[in-house]
Amino acid sequence: MRKWNIGWGAVSHCNMNCQFCYSKHRRKYSNDLVFDDWIKFIDENHSKINTINYGTGENTLEDNWFKLVSYIRENYPGIRQALTTNGYLSEAVKNPKNMQIFIDAVDEVDVSLDFCDEKNIMSFEGNQKHMSGR
Ligand code: SF4
Repeated sequence: MRKWNIGWGAVSHCNMNCQFCYSKHRRKYSNDLVFDDWIKFIDENHSKINTINYGTGENTLEDNWFKLVSYIRENYPGIRQALTTNGYLSEAVKNPKNMQIFIDAVDEVDVSLDFCDEKNIMSFEGNQKHMSGR
C-alpha cells in the first residue's frame, strides 16, 4: 500500500505576528479542529501514513499537541514525526512533561527563522529585502 508523507497544521495560532505569514488568514477566519478530531483522523488513517511534519502555526503552544504526538508514538510507532517551530519549543519543553514527550515522540525538528532580530522578523519590508536578496 502506498504511504503518505503529510504536513499537518494541527495548531494555526502563533505567538508571533509576522506580516508575511502564510497562515495568518487561516487563523483569523477559521477554527482549528480539536483534539478528538485529531485522534479520529489518525485512528482512521494511520495505516496510510509514513511521516508527519507539523507546521502552519506554532504547535508547541498547545499542550494537546504534545498529547497528540505522544498518542501517535504510543499507538502507531512506525510513523515518523517532525516539527517545524519558530523556536517556542525551547520554552514549551521547560515543562518536564512536555520535554519527556518531545524526547520520546519527536524524531526531527526544523527551526524556521527568517532573521535573527525581532525588528526584521516582524517586518514585511524586511522579508521583501530577504526575498529579493538585497
Ligand atoms: S512564526 Fe511562522 S507561523 Fe508564526 S506568525 Fe511568523 S511565519 Fe507565521
